Amino acid sequence: MARHVIVGGGTAGWNAITTIRESDLGNSSIVLVSNESPYSRMVLPYYLSKEIGESHVFTASKTRLEDLNIELKLGKDVKGLDTKNSKIILDDEEGIEYDNLLIATGSSPVKPAIPGSDGQNVHSFWTLPQARAVTSKIKKNTRVTMIGAGFISFTILNALVSRGVDLTVVEVEKRILPRMLDDEGADIVNNWIVSKGVDVKTDCRVSSIDDFENEKIIKFDDGTDLKTDLVIMATGIKPNIDWLSGSDVVLDDGIPIDDFCRTNIANVYAAGDVAKGLNIVTGEREIHAIEPTAVQHGRIAASNMLGKEIQYKGSLLMNILDVFGLEIASFGSWNEEGSDKIIKKNPVRPSYRKMVFDHGHMIGAIAIGLGDDIWHTNDIGMLKGLIYTKSELVEWKEHISRNPFDIKRAFLASGSVGKLLPETLVGSPSIPEKNISVSS
Ligand SMILES: Cc1cc2nc3c(=O)[nH]c(=O)nc-3n(C[C@H](O)[C@H](O)[C@H](O)COP(=O)(O)OP(=O)(O)OC[C@H]3O[C@@H](n4cnc5c(N)ncnc54)[C@H](O)[C@@H]3O)c2cc1C
Repeated sequence: MARHVIVGGGTAGWNAITTIRESDLGNSSIVLVSNESPYSRMVLPYYLSKEIGESHVFTASKTRLEDLNIELKLGKDVKGLDTKNSKIILDDEEGIEYDNLLIATGSSPVKPAIPGSDGQNVHSFWTLPQARAVTSKIKKNTRVTMIGAGFISFTILNALVSRGVDLTVVEVEKRILPRMLDDEGADIVNNWIVSKGVDVKTDCRVSSIDDFENEKIIKFDDGTDLKTDLVIMATGIKPNIDWLSGSDVVLDDGIPIDDFCRTNIANVYAAGDVAKGLNIVTGEREIHAIEPTAVQHGRIAASNMLGKEIQYKGSLLMNILDVFGLEIASFGSWNEEGSDKIIKKNPVRPSYRKMVFDHGHMIGAIAIGLGDDIWHTNDIGMLKGLIYTKSELVEWKEHISRNPFDIKRAFLASGSVGKLLPETLVGSPSIPEKNISVSS
């Protein structure tokens, strides 16, 4: 019986487990080693807003994992990998042998070396314990300052404002969402969140976070300061690969994987935030630290651990946010220098489109619009489909250029639907998780 060992019980690890079990019905041994119980980081904003309770954060209960016949090593850290003997080493020195290993250890937040960034009431918002800490410390009118105005920071804006806090967002770059939007897009979103009562300070560098009586004082390079009660640092993440240094797995600011989610070692796979996988648009290997990539990597890696030889087409870099009813999306290579692009901004509504082309194929897009505009929500899906399917749009570019808010016709005429409908990631439709069981 093959022995699959999965390190990390987040999105990639959990999807690998369900993929193995939906296919092998229990005819292999699976060991899950994770320092946390399996849960989804993506739902933590809903826990913060109190829309869901803590039990809903977890993706699988211990009973469910036992029902699926998973040997559990939870609350354990893996500290080393011996590929010659196909064995991982846990923090308590226990060695676990594998036939196939999946590394799905995700990423961790990084804080810049600012004096005071480890002080009291300064938090990251990445793990459940961190979410618990923030959730318990805020109440109506608490002054919260978020340092960093990137994607993760924006995933918790709605929750913070719904809890009635007095929110300021601080960003070192000249614009908010610098890796998700261009200047024009960021400008629209900036005005929108300011109109909803959020204070925004861009182009300002924090020099220290000090304590004075019961307050925090954030000091900036330009000599100004800001008083606040609680600081949330959302200043980037790094892949959890330190435990692999000294192993034979090739590391390069992440773990490079091939089109089968395999590392340089034949029976060692990697998936999710830790893995440098194929970008479907550019063909480069890079980390896409987003949920859809973790799901896809986890399922592809698991299929190949079962010996199915399933090739991955690559992941589409995408970020989608709903901020106070404004839907904001960007896909693929929206930021190419000197690119062939169509841009349209509606001066009377918060509405913006940018579509970037390479020889008649759309390779990137930004779409911003109100969520209650049904066409906008639909268009987000269609723009994603056009890029993902690499549909030929030579004959449609002029139409799109004249009517940038009419994507539907190009989407239908280019045959994108026909390409997307029959597509399955791992060769067959997935089974709803609750229907997966092992034969007794
Ligand atoms: C607040 C928040 C909101 C988000 N919202 C979105 C969103 O809206 N859309 C989106 O696409 N993405 C979102 N993300 C990002 C998304 O959650 C991640 O991309 C995803 O969780 C990556 O999955 P993963 O399995 O690679 O890693 P993780 O989910 O981080 O799981 C890795 C697991 O491995 C464990 N581990 C690490 N090292 C070791 C070790 N040495 N030994 C044992 N166990 C170890 C970790 O503790 C963890 O349990 C959000 C993230 C956060 C924090």
